[in-house]
Amino acid sequence: MRIDRLVVASKNADKLREIEAVLLGLGLVNHIVADLDWPDVEETEPTLKENALLKARAVAAATGLPALADDTGLEVDALGGAPGARSARYAGESASYADNVRVLLEDLAGVKDRSARFRTVMALVMPGGQEIVAEGVLEGSIIETPRGDSGFGYDPVFDVDGRTLAQLAAVEKNTISHRGRALRDLAEMLRRM
Ligand code: IMP
Repeated sequence: MRIDRLVVASKNADKLREIEAVLLGLGLVNHIVADLDWPDVEETEPTLKENALLKARAVAAATGLPALADDTGLEVDALGGAPGARSARYAGESASYADNVRVLLEDLAGVKDRSARFRTVMALVMPGGQEIVAEGVLEGSIIETPRGDSGFGYDPVFDVDGRTLAQLAAVEKNTISHRGRALRDLAEMLRRM
């Protein structure tokens, strides 16, 4: 299945940039419709999957177009999988990326096991009600001092094989990332339909 017009159900410019770059490379959609607006959707659910579906359903209903939503969480083993679905609000309701990173490093001060993963759930909802969900995971570890200035969010403290995601060029991050993997998986499911 190829989609003619798709809306990406996110107002986060950093996520949008990555999703659009990967999607365009996959040849899955003809046009990503960018000039639409919709009422904000609160992420009220406890899981990434439920939040992704919540956003995609609301935006498909509001726009009448197929809607793709991404919900992403950072899972730190030493914190029992936190911040997880609460990654955007780890340091409080209107926390900045820098606030979240600072609180994460404080919570991990002196902790030896710093293993962590990013998990993205992508939900595609068609206006007719059909739903497709895919997941992508990237394993890594949390370093003690931020490094690099590309990417966003927790990228400067998330190390994969000696470099943080913020030290990778955008195309390199998209090749290995949780988000890139989820999108490629979703594309594969669509191709088989
Ligand atoms: P949400 O998916 O909008 O709930 O966002 C979760 C939060 O996780 C974001 O606000 C970012 O702080 C962080 N985040 C999401 N994706 C990434 C990523 O690819 N790298 C680093 N941090 C991310």
